[in-house]
Amino acid sequence: RTVYVNGQYLPEQEASVSIFDRGFLFADGVYEVTSVLGGKLIDFDGHARRLQRSLGEMEMRAPVERGELLAIHRELVTLNEIEDGLIYLQVTRGAPADRDFVYPDEDVAPTIVLFTQSKPGLADSPAARAGISVITIPDARWGRRDIKTVQLLYPSMGKMAAKKAGADDAWMVEDGQVTEGTSNNAYIVKNGAIITRQLSTEILHGITRAAVLRLAREAQMTVEERGFTPDEAREADEAFVTSASAFVMPVVKIDGVALGEGTPGPVARRLREIYLEEALKIAI
Ligand code: PLP
Repeated sequence: RTVYVNGQYLPEQEASVSIFDRGFLFADGVYEVTSVLGGKLIDFDGHARRLQRSLGEMEMRAPVERGELLAIHRELVTLNEIEDGLIYLQVTRGAPADRDFVYPDEDVAPTIVLFTQSKPGLADSPAARAGISVITIPDARWGRRDIKTVQLLYPSMGKMAAKKAGADDAWMVEDGQVTEGTSNNAYIVKNGAIITRQLSTEILHGITRAAVLRLAREAQMTVEERGFTPDEAREADEAFVTSASAFVMPVVKIDGVALGEGTPGPVARRLREIYLEEALKIAI
């Protein structure tokens, strides 16, 4: 694989960053994951805008402007011959001369790294046809989940808890209500209404979420942006999650309780179809 690090395209074995990098020592960095379908980037602008926002909230400067960022994404797709897959982008506060809690001076450049992951048939996964199962766990993350930071230890623990329980993923619960999945936004469907938690600092503002809710409203579907409890979820007609890598993924089991027929529901299937169709249309 050819990867990108601080202005250079290198074979992955030759790419490196300092052990003093604040991403490594403090998880002081932000990231984005953009999907590639048919060699094209899905919703690049949404991801570029959210990166800008995350950097702003962290008081970090952007290492490259939008046009260059797009060019790097495209170059990596070409160099690695990615038909379907993902592009991971990470920006950290760089590597000062020594470990220090205080942010380094302006002259310490941020570290920017991008790499690709090839995923043939990404939009046609068996998981999407069967649906996935989730468990619910407490949400023990920090309070600024709207910033897409690289602090992913708790979500990683959640995934492991799910795996040990024989499930695919975990939905996190705070003050009695579901916040989101470990790496996706969470939804239930009841009597035709699509219910998902409102935006705040408690969840990540999903790029896929924004597109899916817009498309649902355009298709005259009812959308309720509000919290819901695990009990309400287990009694829902259907459920699903959204993310840049899974698009719209049906959820068929919550804490061992099968929803409806235990198969992907009509609303989730329709939204997946509508989303993928639209995403391909606006892919660049
Ligand atoms: N919520 C969390 C915690 C995530 O990590 C992600 C994606 O990685 C999402 C939601 C979905 O966001 P997006 O649709 O922008 O991929």
